[in-house]
Amino acid sequence: MTERRKLIAGNWKMNGLKADGLALASDLAGRLKGAGAVPFDLLVCPPFPLLFPVGEAIKDSPLALGGQDCAPKTSGAHTGDVAPTMLTDAGCRYVILGHSERRADHAEADALIAAKAAAAHKEGLIAIVCVGETEAQRDAGQADAVVSGQLAGSIPAGATAANTVIAYEPVWAIGTGKTATPDDVKAMHANIRATLDGKIADPAKVLILYGGSVKPGNAAELMAVENVDGALVGGAALKADDFWAIATSC
Ligand code: PEP
Repeated sequence: MTERRKLIAGNWKMNGLKADGLALASDLAGRLKGAGAVPFDLLVCPPFPLLFPVGEAIKDSPLALGGQDCAPKTSGAHTGDVAPTMLTDAGCRYVILGHSERRADHAEADALIAAKAAAAHKEGLIAIVCVGETEAQRDAGQADAVVSGQLAGSIPAGATAANTVIAYEPVWAIGTGKTATPDDVKAMHANIRATLDGKIADPAKVLILYGGSVKPGNAAELMAVENVDGALVGGAALKADDFWAIATSC
């Protein structure tokens, strides 16, 4: 059986100022240090302005840092964009791409996400590519086809298990308190792993995270599902106690 180390990723979204981010990241770094060997990797993805101070605060810790997006270009006249090189400069190892909020708020389509992932890979970043169906698509029986289509369009050539993580996040479960049932998660993660065959070298080694209202109360059940290799956590990642409880339920 392929061993996959779990990844627990916190997406802070557009929350927190410098003092909040520093307090949260330092608290988590302290818990990691105190815990010694743990069976998971822990990642925080703060808003862009907090990357440098948080990166500096956790630089000697195993707590990993990630961005929430990046541009598909390395530099130039792209007002408001942030290049992958700027993320690694701040200490990032990861970048979240194609989150449903970016797909919805910024009309990001699969081809753009694939271009961003390719740019991130070029800079040595691990791209966390997000996919997931809406409630209407699930009700119409289209969930598998939608997610397979997003994977086909959003994963660039050159993707490997070492540079790409998939996050399955049903849109209707994000920030709503609703979670997919363990059976639905199991079926979708199996569909995702099958779809990765031929798309990514070593598909059995690719981490597939579940995201959508993961909390301390449901984490153990979700993390025990076959092919669930960790979590992408939004709201519950903003409280050190909750995020740590999720991670230690692995
Ligand atoms: C997310 O933003 O990726 C997410 C899963 O949010 P929440 O945990 O709040 O549902």
